[in-house]
Amino acid sequence: MAAPFAEKLLNWYRDHRADRPWRRDPKAYHTWLSEIMLQQTRVETVIPYYRRFVQAFPTIESLAAAPLAEVLKLWEGLGYYSRARNLHRAAQIVMDEYGGALPADVETLLKLPGIGNYTAGAIASIAFGIAAPVLDGNVMRLFARLLNFEDDITQPATRNKLWRVAEYWLPAHAPGDYNQALMELGQQVCRPRNPLCARCPIQSHCRAWKAGTQNARPVRSQRSPTPHYDVTAGLIRDERESLLIARRPLDGLLGGLWEFPGGKVEAGEPLIDCLKRELREELAIAVEVGALFAVVDHAFTHFKITLHAFDCRYLGALPPHNEPQTIGVMDWAWVTEAQLPDYSFGKTDRVVIAELARRREMLL
Ligand code: SF4
Repeated sequence: MAAPFAEKLLNWYRDHRADRPWRRDPKAYHTWLSEIMLQQTRVETVIPYYRRFVQAFPTIESLAAAPLAEVLKLWEGLGYYSRARNLHRAAQIVMDEYGGALPADVETLLKLPGIGNYTAGAIASIAFGIAAPVLDGNVMRLFARLLNFEDDITQPATRNKLWRVAEYWLPAHAPGDYNQALMELGQQVCRPRNPLCARCPIQSHCRAWKAGTQNARPVRSQRSPTPHYDVTAGLIRDERESLLIARRPLDGLLGGLWEFPGGKVEAGEPLIDCLKRELREELAIAVEVGALFAVVDHAFTHFKITLHAFDCRYLGALPPHNEPQTIGVMDWAWVTEAQLPDYSFGKTDRVVIAELARRREMLL
């Protein structure tokens, strides 16, 4: 059964639809790319990345043929790098198994890396006009308020109930516009704090508004405190003043990106001991640790880190080796400071690189 407010919502969307580059030329590839980029990321941040990405890789074919390093470089700064790796891998599968065209049904879309229920529903409904529901954070909040839902939204059982609501309310007519309208209403009007109920086109259907509980919905259980880790890194220089950088394994956090090598401090471990141990374990090298160069705080989704970056002097590879080994890293390279921008780094290392550039300028 279509939602009783579907027509009002669609009329509102026709007048309030935001202008987005992926809406101007709504190919399936553009919808897919924008939906992946928009995961956990604000629209304003995504737009310039989207434009650069489409310019560099205008088709699925060009994306599939590109080296992963090039894809990661264009993604640098957007975060959640597994999205870029999955997108690249999925483009290759689309070329190999689906003749270069994104599959037009939810079940097949779900088989592609990086495409979950939400993204499959968004691509199927927006790009192919298929009646498939979507449920992202905006839609969950909107539904929880429309229904004055008292269940804890962080629980999987609650999300399952809301998925069923999304299916039940989905109209057969214009499902793509309806889904986008739900998300847009959640962003523009039914905002997380202080929803703009006076401007809401479906206010008369909202139970939370009638009960005056909009700001108490959705119900969310208290989160446990975010864990914090100390991490060390070495700015390791050899006799030519080149810097040693390492590439992280593909399957972990920031997979495939480059870093100043180091790792996580164990309980009670001094920072310098940690750095020497990590370099032994991951690259089989020895260094002399010098002064603390920079301290950088950064918050990931589920934890926070403080990076302690030290100046280091390269002493050599551990016997029997005569060069660094790829034990806990994918690759390593000696580079000049001027070459660092050619490589993709995570946020904290880019802060360290900016500090290197700042100090170099002060010396000039
Ligand atoms: Fe959200 Fe207010 Fe509209 Fe209800 S009336 S859906 S709380 S904006």
